[in-house]
Amino acid sequence: MTDPNCLFCKIASKQIPASIVFEDDQVVAFKDISPQVPVHILIVPKEHIPGLDTLTPAQAPVLGHIALVAKELARKAGLGERGWRLVANYGPDAGQTVFHLHVHLLGGAPMAGKMV
Ligand code: AMP
Ligand code: ZN
Repeated sequence: MTDPNCLFCKIASKQIPASIVFEDDQVVAFKDISPQVPVHILIVPKEHIPGLDTLTPAQAPVLGHIALVAKELARKAGLGERGWRLVANYGPDAGQTVFHLHVHLLGGAPMAGKMV
């Protein structure tokens, strides 16, 4: 299922261009348009899932797949040794701005002390 009004559905279906770094049958990964660290990639399911709050048991396996994709992308970016972080924001307090589930892969600079 996709949402015709959703930015990340449009990126996943190539209606809007993005710097795509990986794609398979379940997910697409692309560079964040406003990178907060040297490596800032968004990994999104191709299925429209508004956010973690609406995730169903049937949809949950895609999160495990995203973790495996993140690991490979981090290694390819040379972050395997120095480390990296995954973040998924849900709702206003977490600052979610795009309501299609996405996981931020962050790395390439020290992040100690910035979050939990
Ligand atoms: P969040 O604040 O967790 O909802 O993250 C949304 C992210 O999407 C932000 O980091 C934005 O910089 C990023 N973003 C918004 N529009 C685009 C776009 N067209 N291409 C790539 N990243 C985008
Ligand atoms: Zn969507």
